[in-house]
Amino acid sequence: MIPYGKQDINQDDIDAVLSVLKSDWLTQGPKVPEFESAISTICGAHYCVALNSATSALHIACLALGVGPGDTVWTSPISFVASANCALYCGADVNFVDVETETGNMSVNDLKNRLAIAKANNTLPKVVIPVHLAGQSCDMQAIHKLGTEYGFAIIEDASHAIGAQYQSQYVGNCQYSDFTVFSFHPVKIVTSAEGGALTTNSATLAEKATLLRSHGITNKAEQLKHESHGPWYYEQHQLGYNYRMTDLQAALGTSQLQRVHDFVSQRNKLAKRYTEKLPDTCSHLLQSGQCYSAYHLYVILLDKQSSNKQRAVIETLRSNHIIGHLHYIPIHLQPYYQDRGFRQGDFPRAEEYYARAVTLPLHPNLTFDEQDQVLSVLSGALA
Ligand SMILES: *Cc1c(COP(=O)(O)O)cnc(C)c1O
Repeated sequence: MIPYGKQDINQDDIDAVLSVLKSDWLTQGPKVPEFESAISTICGAHYCVALNSATSALHIACLALGVGPGDTVWTSPISFVASANCALYCGADVNFVDVETETGNMSVNDLKNRLAIAKANNTLPKVVIPVHLAGQSCDMQAIHKLGTEYGFAIIEDASHAIGAQYQSQYVGNCQYSDFTVFSFHPVKIVTSAEGGALTTNSATLAEKATLLRSHGITNKAEQLKHESHGPWYYEQHQLGYNYRMTDLQAALGTSQLQRVHDFVSQRNKLAKRYTEKLPDTCSHLLQSGQCYSAYHLYVILLDKQSSNKQRAVIETLRSNHIIGHLHYIPIHLQPYYQDRGFRQGDFPRAEEYYARAVTLPLHPNLTFDEQDQVLSVLSGALA
């Protein structure tokens, strides 16, 4: 079977986890700050907070930015549901900005138009969460410019994009955002089994996120509101969560990060090879000259005449033991979001993208031979 994505675990990764098992710490200990510092270094961000998932990171990033009841958060309909759910966890409302069909990323034009309308109606978003689909950054400079003009904060959902670049800088440096969020789920670029992280350049935001990660509790002398009762003393300042990462996960993540650039370059090499050999009746997601994608996913778009074959393509791949997939079902079409009032037709380009997209297998250990099998079954299904 050829899976659509798969982790690469080597002996160093195994040894890193075993050494934690034999150490004094299993849960959050010295390996977590090591992992955080490795992420900050790779991304060029001042601060990093590791968490037990990207979903937790998105939730805490929203809370640290003050998202609550009465606020609205905007994100992309072409994403995993976590990008939208985080706003609802905070008691806020969520809305979507349509995508460009050719990239699947948030459309800056649509964002601009919606902001002008929202301003007139007094319904401007507090936070916008662009999603770097498949590992290619959104146009962050343009989104940031609108953020300054309309006064919203920005969380980049870079779950697909560690090791990717935008304007020759690593995604996660937060030049154009308040926070960047990464996921280390095994199908993503690097893994810590379950895990996530956020980066930021703001000391205040990093401190808020750190507090929220662990019950809103602190024992740091400089943060205490009352006089310490003794060496056991800690204080709860906010309603936080248990979103901590374990040392086992952090050790695996740190070991994996040493290969992040190799993984991304191998993914790029395989993606280029797919692009050169694709049948004429489909195209690949358009790549911006400003971006170097991490290629978490390789997504093709069937041309309009072939889109009626989308389901057959995925079924044929699967009957040939190749896991073709589809990322993503537009979030506003999920029954839960339909119950919140969203309708088919609300975000037409996201719906067109969904009608034409197919995800082909891509991971660093995919062989040329397996890739050729995928291409051959794909051509057959489209013929
Ligand atoms: C995987 C993913 C998430 C959630 O990541 P977890 O670490 O599984 O919580 C959020 N957003 C996007 C775009 C994702 O692909």
